[in-house]
This record gives sequence, C-alpha cells and structure tokens, in this order.
Amino acid sequence: MAKTILIVEDELKLAQLLSDYLVQSGFKTRCVHDGAAALAVVRGEAFDLMLLDLMLPGMDGIEVCKAVRSFSALPIIMVTARVEEIDRLLGLELGADDYICKPFSPREVVARVKAVLRRGTAATPALDDELVLDEEGYRAILFGQDVGLTAVEFKLLQILHSQPGRIFSRDQLMDRMYDDRRIVSDRTIDSHIKKLRRKMAASPSRYEWISSVYSVGYKFEKSLREGDS
Ligand code: CA
Repeated sequence: MAKTILIVEDELKLAQLLSDYLVQSGFKTRCVHDGAAALAVVRGEAFDLMLLDLMLPGMDGIEVCKAVRSFSALPIIMVTARVEEIDRLLGLELGADDYICKPFSPREVVARVKAVLRRGTAATPALDDELVLDEEGYRAILFGQDVGLTAVEFKLLQILHSQPGRIFSRDQLMDRMYDDRRIVSDRTIDSHIKKLRRKMAASPSRYEWISSVYSVGYKFEKSLREGDS
C-alpha cells in the first residue's frame, strides 16, 4: 500500500513540486500550509512521514515538531533554509529523524524520505541481548563476540548508545569526548566513526548500528543493512 507523506510547507509552489515528485515515486501526499493545520491533521489522520518546514506562519516548525512528539512517533524530516540552523535545532533535541537544508533537489528529498522510512521507527526490541557495553573493560560485545574497539571508539559508541535515535552533531560528540577541543577536528570524529561502523558491521549480523545523518551528524539506531531489507 502506498505510504502517505504529509507535506507542511507554506510556499505553495514548493509544496506542489515536492508532492509531484513524491507521487511520481509511488507515495500519496497531503499538503498543508501552516503549523496549526499540520497539528490538526496529524491528530486526525494516519501518515507515514512528515516533511516539516521550519519557517511557517503562526506556529513554526519547532513548535509543531515538539507538539507532535508529545503524542506521536511519526517520522519527521525537518526542512530548514540555513545549514547553520541545524546545529541549533539539534541542541533543542526535538526528536526529528532527519534534516534537509534548502535549496534541495526534490530527488534528494525523495531519497531521504525513503531512507527514513526504511529505517522504521526507533524501536529496538531486545537490543540489550544483542549488544552489551562493558563500561569498565571498554568492550562492546555484539552477539556474544568482543568487537575489539579502541577506547576512543568505545566512548563514541557509548555516547551514541546512551540516547538511541537522538542525532548528535560532530560538535556535540567532540564536546563529550575530549576535554581539550583544540586537539581534534570534525574529521577525527568521522574517521573514528568509520572504523567503529566497520568493526560492528564485521559481526555476523544483518544490522547496522550507527547511521550517519547527512551533513548533520550521527545517531545510534539499529537498522537493516542496505540491500538486506
Ligand atoms: Ca517556509
């Protein structure tokens, strides 16, 4: 059955363009043009995902996101006009699943919508049996096997794992990892994450544990590996 995407966007032409692309890709869509209307339809109807513009007349995207999160786990992709805004939004811990910055190509939006839907909701049943963090030994045990992490990789995993589903920016990770920020750069985080993901992927499993959120940061989230779903 076609999944239904709620588009919340006050620029009518942009809403229509997004809708056209999503419909072409096999989705159903519903467009609303202000925050209060968005909240009303989310309460009354079932959707599979919401594309939520930040700047809206009346109730803005932040308020809508908070309100929806108070009663629903509906996947939310927030759309912002400025890339610098994303760090501020992350700091607010709104619980959005992804962020897209304008201008974007509609094709990219469709790809991101599909990616978020593929991940499903953040439900990770029985995770504790599969992944055990031995905090004293700095060891991660995945399906009974020691993953063999360095202390830095373990710490990264520990931070992400402490709040599954929450997106951490590179800045936030660096703040939590290092007392002296001068010694590290964004790239350091990326390279540690890369090794961490590679090691965790080497265990006999169909899952990935850490997803990168394009241009934003990382989060701990169990998902099926690409190609297995
Ligand atoms: Ca807008």
